[in-house]
Amino acid sequence: MNLVFATHNLNKLKEVQALMPSTIKLLSLDDIGCYDEIPETAETIEGNAIIKANFVKDNYKLDCFADDTGLEVAALNGAPGVLSARYAGEGKNAEDNIDKLLSELEDQENRAAQFKTVIALNLEEHQHLFMGTCKGSITKERRGEKGFGYDPVFQPMGSNRTFAQMDLDEKSTISHRGIALRDLIDYLSQ
Ligand code: IMP
Repeated sequence: MNLVFATHNLNKLKEVQALMPSTIKLLSLDDIGCYDEIPETAETIEGNAIIKANFVKDNYKLDCFADDTGLEVAALNGAPGVLSARYAGEGKNAEDNIDKLLSELEDQENRAAQFKTVIALNLEEHQHLFMGTCKGSITKERRGEKGFGYDPVFQPMGSNRTFAQMDLDEKSTISHRGIALRDLIDYLSQ
């Protein structure tokens, strides 16, 4: 079975393909001739995953799934949340986002946070949502060189290392994305 993963990111595609049963062949947006940046205009993480999955269904009539992730910080009332990628503003990068986060949390004792991933799957006529969360805290400074995004300042609960100090395999066993993906794969394997 062919299934579109609504991403332009080939690294993400390869990573997820490696976990899929061999009967499922993943196609990227580029593979189906979709070179658009799908606008992520929803106010929630769920909403953005659904927009991306529905874009493919509506425009290409193909089975598809899409993911969206955000970092929710308790002391910031859930921010940056759905705006995680653009927290420091349009055109800014992950380093700028971390700088802003650390400065917003300066002198803040409550550093609790969680990552949340939602995957929206459109299969035949039905839509299914899969969610994974990972609770932890925001460190006072960056630690580690691995991973991406907010990994250097996110320490999952029960660990004394940040995600950026873990190999991908170790991160995936506890991460928001790993949990949501395993649920999706279990569902597709049934
Ligand atoms: P996306 O929905 O996967 O594009 O993620 C939105 C933003 O959240 C990205 O720009 C990343 O900075 C951040 N992010 C997503 N997943 C992770 C993660 O596993 N670790 C650290 N940051 C992440």
